[in-house]
Amino acid sequence: MPKQFACGLQGGGIVADVVAGLSPAPRARVQAMKEYHPPLGSRAALRLDFNENTLACSPKVKEALEQITTGALTLYPEREPVEALVAKTVGVEPTQLALTNGVDEAIHVLFETFLEAGDELLLPVPTYTMYEVYASATDATAVKVLAGDDLEFPFEQLVAAITPKTKIIAVANPNSPSGTVATRAQLLELAQRAPQAILLVDEAYYHFFGETVMDLVGKVPNLMVARTFSKAYGLAGLRLGLLAGPVELMRWVRRVLSPYSVNSLALACLPPALADTEYLDWYVSEVRQARAEFEAALDEEGVRRWPTQANFILTEIGAQHKEFVERMRAAGVLVRDRSADPGCDGRVRITVGTREQMRLARVALKTTMAALRGKQENA
Ligand code: PMP
Repeated sequence: MPKQFACGLQGGGIVADVVAGLSPAPRARVQAMKEYHPPLGSRAALRLDFNENTLACSPKVKEALEQITTGALTLYPEREPVEALVAKTVGVEPTQLALTNGVDEAIHVLFETFLEAGDELLLPVPTYTMYEVYASATDATAVKVLAGDDLEFPFEQLVAAITPKTKIIAVANPNSPSGTVATRAQLLELAQRAPQAILLVDEAYYHFFGETVMDLVGKVPNLMVARTFSKAYGLAGLRLGLLAGPVELMRWVRRVLSPYSVNSLALACLPPALADTEYLDWYVSEVRQARAEFEAALDEEGVRRWPTQANFILTEIGAQHKEFVERMRAAGVLVRDRSADPGCDGRVRITVGTREQMRLARVALKTTMAALRGKQENA
């Protein structure tokens, strides 16, 4: 680095690096961040690993994509008309809702907008990994409350962990990787007990559960609700999410949110996806039936599982979890090892797809469990 750029910088290891001419240094908090690489490689198999829609989005979306002209792609995306449509669909005012580049962007921007040094992000764990990742890029502290062995929502412990510094409480409802849920009464009470904080209810898996607090947006002054189009709608590749909340809070979020982060292909696809409620209902009902059938299969195999309201089931495989995942992959089924999650050693998460897909998954489960039992007996 040329000397003249280094002058005026003071103290600290990073600055020393900069002065020494090494690469430009990021903020200290960024240097301390863990790298996060979702295991996305080689997924040409039955995808029961990322809780996506495992089949397809509505065919109406494909029609919309085919109608997009090359001229249309020259324009910057205009999100407001589609935002208004989405707001109407979920029952809030347009001023109370922003579309985002997946819920991940909603979480990222919300944290960037509100979390500063001295603030606490309160999290029940295990939960969705990205809350902690995005919090770690801010100067706030993540305060984690570990759920018990039943992985039920640790309501009492969360209430006890609220402090005057609590700035955001993030609750995935249903939660991932457990599939367990918080009740409306618990969420309301949490919001009331921490009026200085935002209660973010992440309803990524709402459609498979059926319960929501979206109707309370604007009525509870510190409640914000996120939803994604990556799951039931099957649009994970387009990156579409939403954040809803009181107008005053949304105004701050919009200052940080890029006006162009939702691209025009995604915006063109959303209205037909929303309109095709028949397709959405069909997919959700497939998953719900397949979930019950797969739960029965797990019970038959003697595999412990947690009650779930989402499109996935957390299972207890135990010490052979790695081999389970490998054998399932060899049988053509991708599942997700969650052993590294807090309190989840030996646990594997299995996404639920259509009934036909889950029939295949049941066969793979049977042969895999038989192989693992055989190995145990010979050990
Ligand atoms: N929230 C939860 C609870 C999730 O599980 C996920 C995705 N796995 C997301 C948010 C991110 O969704 P999106 O694809 O919209 O970024």
